[in-house]
Amino acid sequence: KADLAMYQAKRSGRNNFQFYDKQLDKIVQERLELENHLRKALDKEEFTLHYQPIIDLSTNKMSGVEALIRWEHPTFGMVPPNKFIPIAEETGLIVPIGEWVIRTACLQIKEWETNGFGQISVSINLSIRQFYQSNLINMMQSILNKTAINPRLLIVEITESMTMDVESATQILHELKNLGLTIAMDDFGTGYSSFSYLKTFPIDFLKIDQSFIRDIAINLSDENIATAILLMAHNLGLKVIAEGVELAEQLEVLKQHDCHKAQGYYFSKPLPVYELEQYLNN
Ligand code: C2E
Ligand code: MG
Ligand code: MG
Ligand code: MG
Repeated sequence: KADLAMYQAKRSGRNNFQFYDKQLDKIVQERLELENHLRKALDKEEFTLHYQPIIDLSTNKMSGVEALIRWEHPTFGMVPPNKFIPIAEETGLIVPIGEWVIRTACLQIKEWETNGFGQISVSINLSIRQFYQSNLINMMQSILNKTAINPRLLIVEITESMTMDVESATQILHELKNLGLTIAMDDFGTGYSSFSYLKTFPIDFLKIDQSFIRDIAINLSDENIATAILLMAHNLGLKVIAEGVELAEQLEVLKQHDCHKAQGYYFSKPLPVYELEQYLNN
């Protein structure tokens, strides 16, 4: 009887193992496939940028947009950035893709200015590998020279996790500032909160992560976190952008505490160029 039980346990164990083995195989296979397609996506011109309006809360007008990359694959369909940016980051593909994002954003700034939409600032997201890429500053400089835009209009978004190496991060940030660019700390509050370094980093904007905005109007502790960030930012002379604003109630709380800017579905989701231009015309 004991032998039979042992036999059954072993068998089901092995079956389970085979099951997980197959699952793992499938995940590895899918990941490899995605990676192979990602390698060709730039050449095949499968990337586009969508632009989400950022609203100045003192004027209720759009002051700029955040550029968010989109990958439209002919058979996979729309692949979300959270799925392919980590792969691009691991494989190093983020370097050419990131350069494409920066060039496209700068050309767009130029084009909007030429077409009478005025000076619209565009925020781009940097990944950690790009931030520490040795020719980042030269690459930026060369794109700024070629497009001849006002560098202030390009906002570089970094995250707290990139600034763990405080000394290197400070130097890179100063070099970016010397190019005339604007700097924003994205997803603020979710990282290893380098509150103490905020003073020393040459940063212009803090973006409060959407996880703090979500329950701001119903949860007192979330409201307290958001208002503490706002208070600290005011004291440090930083401007604050609230991310992920979806409801009028959230906006109300943010305005009460003198938040400078906001973005989120309440105003608009990220839009393709043509739709953003329609949004501006209305
Ligand atoms: P992020 O930079 O924090 O961008 C904000 C994300 O929140 C975007 O997701 C945006 O579509 C979404 N969002 C905006 N408003 C709302 C709202 O009201 N509610 C909710 N629930 N979500 C909202 P998306 O476009 O999927 O991008 C996700 C992340 O992927 C970005 O987070 C950024 O970290 C990364 N990413 C996007 N584009 C690029 C890029 O060109 N380069 C790099 N390195 N990363 C990028
Ligand atoms: Mg961002
Ligand atoms: Mg963010
Ligand atoms: Mg984010």
